[in-house]
Amino acid sequence: MRECLFCKIANGSIPSTHIYEDAYVLAFLDIAQTTPGHTLVIPKKHSDHFLNTTKSLMHRVMDVAQRIGQAQMISLQANGVNLITNAHPAAGQTVFHFHVHVIPRYDQADQFRLEMLENKDRHLLNLPMIASKIKTKLSE
Ligand code: 5GP
Ligand code: ZN
Repeated sequence: MRECLFCKIANGSIPSTHIYEDAYVLAFLDIAQTTPGHTLVIPKKHSDHFLNTTKSLMHRVMDVAQRIGQAQMISLQANGVNLITNAHPAAGQTVFHFHVHVIPRYDQADQFRLEMLENKDRHLLNLPMIASKIKTKLSE
């Protein structure tokens, strides 16, 4: 059986601070605590990232992530929440077991940064062609 870091957290062989647990999903505090309450939600069964997890586990994980975000807003007096999942190193993934970050936000000057900059070459992009490539794959 594969035993990555989050598999070990899921089976309890590495300790973590639990927030929520059921038969399929575990949520625990991220060790980095980017903002106070920064939580990770994982399926107990290993998949590398959201792109290759099963639909049913994806739904279970997202359902728990939503509930934790709602709880963070009230219990931690957060003013917002970011929901993020990284797939592959190019997207910043460092632990290769599907996880969703639920990050309570207090203000824009806290420790969290996510920048979606305008592509300065965007006028060179052929948007209909890009859309058509994705749509063709979706309809296969
Ligand atoms: P990624 O960069 O793959 O999206 O996020 C991995 C996250 O796992 C990071 O935010 C990191 O702080 C967290 N992390 C790494 N090792 C541990 C650990 O041993 N325990 C906990 N609770 N979080 C961890
Ligand atoms: Zn794993």
